[in-house]
Amino acid sequence: MAQDLDYDVLIVGGGINGCGIARDAAGRGLRVGLAEMNDLASATSSASTKLFHGGLRYLEYFEVRLVREALIERETLLRAMPHISWPMRFVLPYHKDMRFESATPTSKLLSFIMPWMKGRRPAWLIRLGLFMYDNLGGRKILPATSTVDLRSGSEGAPLDDRFEKAYEYSDCWVEDSRLVVLNARDAQARGADIMVQTKVTGAQRNADHWVVTLEDQSTGTAREVRAKMIVNAAGPWVGDVLNGTLGLNSREGVRLVRGSHIVVPKLYDHDKCYFFQGEDGRIIFAIPYEGDFTLIGTTDADHSDPSEKPTCTPEEQDYLVAFASNYFKKPVTRDEIVWTYSGVRPLYNDGAENPSAMTRDYTLKLDETAAPLLNIFGGKITTYRKLAESALSKIETQFEGLSGDWTAGIAMPGGDFAVDGVDALIAELTRDYPFLNPRWAKRLVRAYGTEARDILGNATSKEDLGEDFGADLTAAELTWLKANEFARTGADVLWRRSKLGLRLSDEQAARVDEAMRA
Ligand SMILES: Cc1cc2nc3c(=O)[nH]c(=O)nc-3n(C[C@H](O)[C@H](O)[C@H](O)COP(=O)(O)OP(=O)(O)OC[C@H]3O[C@@H](n4cnc5c(N)ncnc54)[C@H](O)[C@@H]3O)c2cc1C
Repeated sequence: MAQDLDYDVLIVGGGINGCGIARDAAGRGLRVGLAEMNDLASATSSASTKLFHGGLRYLEYFEVRLVREALIERETLLRAMPHISWPMRFVLPYHKDMRFESATPTSKLLSFIMPWMKGRRPAWLIRLGLFMYDNLGGRKILPATSTVDLRSGSEGAPLDDRFEKAYEYSDCWVEDSRLVVLNARDAQARGADIMVQTKVTGAQRNADHWVVTLEDQSTGTAREVRAKMIVNAAGPWVGDVLNGTLGLNSREGVRLVRGSHIVVPKLYDHDKCYFFQGEDGRIIFAIPYEGDFTLIGTTDADHSDPSEKPTCTPEEQDYLVAFASNYFKKPVTRDEIVWTYSGVRPLYNDGAENPSAMTRDYTLKLDETAAPLLNIFGGKITTYRKLAESALSKIETQFEGLSGDWTAGIAMPGGDFAVDGVDALIAELTRDYPFLNPRWAKRLVRAYGTEARDILGNATSKEDLGEDFGADLTAAELTWLKANEFARTGADVLWRRSKLGLRLSDEQAARVDEAMRA
């Protein structure tokens, strides 16, 4: 690298794609800077359904490449982060009146060869899809599909009696915003500069380098850095950065599609998820969430302006409540909702009319007309590591002697233990710190894995960990989050490094914010 430059690669955006690329690039020896204008994962990457999944429904769009890559990736990721990710079983109740989304290629094909089905999804087709799902991705850890009799057993208990049969298949849960911060931490450990609250406000392009203006969002001060190339991983803002901040004229674009979730007190006692098919051909999930809650989502609605904060509209709340109530014995009501969240999918604009039908695959576009620029469009949480490898293979010709792919199988911070080792880790932590209650010990292991001990240090009582902010969030944990996880505000801690926002009162949350800003 030219020694007069600050960075080989300057990444715009601290979502999963930006942080995943930063980790991969730093691990290959590149000098990486990453600028995030708010908190890490403050946009789409904390607002997903939080699944490492192949995307069963994408099979109906013949997105076999994407599904296969994502299916294989689930287990690679699971092994690298068994603290923040775990297997889940999905119960898909079957009823003969279930319908396709009419625009899917499968639906069109079926209407042609079996017109009498009138858009209904036949059971054999679901079984075929699940057979492919089981076998496309080389499963080793996750159990295969099975059939469930809903008339007996806990899976059928909360559901309406008209559902008698279901299929059950495997995918994985992931704590999305923690995934982002762990990638950022690992990138930093490998030499990357992670700059939060830092906005890229402008850039001047030269033949062989960029001069980029960074604005500190807390002080308003601006400075310039020089980088050989830029990676634009600005998610919903990718077009704004490309055409506005970088001043280029590009026709590449994203279509912004909002997805919202609702959270209600838990609707059932077992630990499996439901995959519900609607009369409109869409699907939603109902997922056990944070011990005491059920997460229900998602929606698909166009959202034209990325600067407009996405929220779950009353219409979306009604839609999700009605959708779920169609399945549960006891209807879900709007007044049960304790929290909602929304995110904007930055989907590569492939011209599809229906937002549900747009590709979830990613597209990387390299512009080498002067100093290089790589633009990232689309993508999934599940495929972020593969996306990062693709990004590095696109830019490798820019850097002589760059080493090859390395991230598969390398543990994330705190994830250096056996894939089925969480219970053992909780037991060891409780043995060594007997003052931890079971919920607290589990939360620490699920968040920090083997690093939970670094927070607890030599403590022999809860008092040794300083102020208790509520729900066993202590001063020692805040100090750790400030020092190691780029957290600066109460919201960073309560809604992204954890979900303790669900448990703290407004007064307690304000106290956390005050302590973080002190
Ligand atoms: C409702 C919903 C459900 C989903 N569910 C799943 C799922 O279950 N599984 C799955 O695999 N995927 C899922 N996804 C997809 C996944 O969440 C996204 O593909 C992914 O989070 C996109 O990450 P990103 O890094 O591209 O964007 P983002 O996370 O939005 O990150 C972009 C970042 O760039 C920053 N930025 C923008 N402009 C600037 C600037 N000028 N300077 C500095 N920083 C800037 C922003 O602040 C932002 O933090 C879901 C998406 C949605 C919306």
